[in-house]
Amino acid sequence: MTADPEEGPHMRQLLGAYVLDALPAPEALTVSRHLQTCDRCAADYVAVAEAAALLPLLSEEDLLE
Ligand SMILES: [Zn+2]
Repeated sequence: MTADPEEGPHMRQLLGAYVLDALPAPEALTVSRHLQTCDRCAADYVAVAEAAALLPLLSEEDLLE
């Protein structure tokens, strides 16, 4: 055990931009690799991705009404 994901820098603050594909490629790769080794950030990523997927739906419904 040389690298404990719990002790490394986490990616929560980058997840929003990562979901929106707004990160530079090197940072997106860093986040991608981290998500494969960190269950906590992977769970956060799923939550952020679901929220990001819902936002356009909500605003679209607002526009329709
Ligand atoms: Zn993490």
